[in-house]
Amino acid sequence: MIPDQCSFCKGILKQGKTEFIVKINQEIVVIKDIPAYICDRCHESYFPPDSSRKIDHILESVRSGPVYGRPLAAIEVSMQ
Ligand SMILES: [Zn+2]
Repeated sequence: MIPDQCSFCKGILKQGKTEFIVKINQEIVVIKDIPAYICDRCHESYFPPDSSRKIDHILESVRSGPVYGRPLAAIEVSMQ
């Protein structure tokens, strides 16, 4: 379910695309071009059910074996 307003800042949600970054084991997985609703004020993104399903699906395949994507360089910074 998609709210029509941002639940953080009450900004307006606009349809767009976003990225989702997650770390699984020691791999950084970046899923890009995800259709989402993005707040025009704080840029919080909301995934429609269809996008969440696809993200889950991609994460499942990453967990269960090698996934074929473009390798990326990543920088990891700790706040500690
Ligand atoms: Zn917002």
